[in-house]
Amino acid sequence: MASSRRADKAPKKTKVPIGKYILGAVVICVLLCGIFAIGKRLIGGSGKTEQTGNNNGKESQTQTGKAAEEKTTEVKADNSNPMTKLTVKAPAGYLREGETMQLDIKYEPKDASNPTLKWTCSEDGLVTVSEDGELVPEEGSGKHTVTMTAEATDGSGLSQSFELMIYPKIDPSQPMVAITFDDGPNPDTTNVMLDALEENYAKATFFCLGQNAGYYPEVVKREYDLGMEVGTHTFSHVQLTKLSGDALDEEISKSVDAIKEATGVKPVLMRPPYGAVNKTVLKAVGGYGLCCMNWSLDTEDWKTKKADATYAETMKAVDGDVVLLHDIHEYNVDAVKRFVPDLMAQGFQLVTVSELYKNRGETLDPGTLHFRTDPTTESAGETTAADADDPGAQAETTEE
Ligand code: ZN
Repeated sequence: MASSRRADKAPKKTKVPIGKYILGAVVICVLLCGIFAIGKRLIGGSGKTEQTGNNNGKESQTQTGKAAEEKTTEVKADNSNPMTKLTVKAPAGYLREGETMQLDIKYEPKDASNPTLKWTCSEDGLVTVSEDGELVPEEGSGKHTVTMTAEATDGSGLSQSFELMIYPKIDPSQPMVAITFDDGPNPDTTNVMLDALEENYAKATFFCLGQNAGYYPEVVKREYDLGMEVGTHTFSHVQLTKLSGDALDEEISKSVDAIKEATGVKPVLMRPPYGAVNKTVLKAVGGYGLCCMNWSLDTEDWKTKKADATYAETMKAVDGDVVLLHDIHEYNVDAVKRFVPDLMAQGFQLVTVSELYKNRGETLDPGTLHFRTDPTTESAGETTAADADDPGAQAETTEE
């Protein structure tokens, strides 16, 4: 019986409905696929759905961002031949907001497979550099000193940094003044005045004696490197109207050479000692590409010899003035420290002589004589080589 029972049970087992199992599996599969498809639609993972869907703006933006992200990660740079050397040179350590600067970027080997650089500014976004190396200070970057860093993106680990001082943008519609210093440099006083100008992001013009430039070329170089204008005040401070021929020529040429030796650049401005010029002097000066720049406001610092007096006189400056001071005197140091921030607080832009003329649309041609710019009359208060018999005669006694 038992065996028959066993025998009975056995055939029952073989009758298990396999077809039912397969059908069940297929149903489950179909259901799972359906749920998955619905889930996908709800999450929004399909590109087709996003494009056809009538989404609101926010969603569209997110999706565009996602797509862009995917695209950038797809592009892989060819780093097979990385850089071995990278140099980045800025033509100057300063710039004005509103100006741009072309950087000199070099790398080795010349056929490096990925020359793309990643630029960063120590103050995020204040200064940018384009792909072809054009540096652009963005709005609001004036009165900032930043460190710019270029990093290779080819895995070489190479990088280069430099510091950049950004002067405020010049607004030609606002008042501006050109502070000028004669007779220097004198390291003891000139450097402290340069510190004050640098701290305030202010510019000035230094009319150096060729002789002193020869003694202290590093101070003249510092003036130049800070973006100050460097002009000549002759070689040995002789009254040019008393010279002629070779002697006159030598006073000019030796001073131009001394300044070029210190800065690497020839000056374009000359401040004649005692403001003394005549037709002969203007012609000789013009032959060296120099323009004669006298002044419209004399602080008479050499006469008063007091910081308070120099300060008070300088604060009388009005728009377009060219102010005469001397950077060789100790008593002027405190005056400079005070009037630089105070003039700026009163709304004056402290600019170089060339910047003043350029921003007022006036020219400084070789062999001409100037005293100040005039925003209302093109040539007011100015004398040119053509109509000057001896314009210096009236100014001969006004300067030390
Ligand atoms: Zn002088």
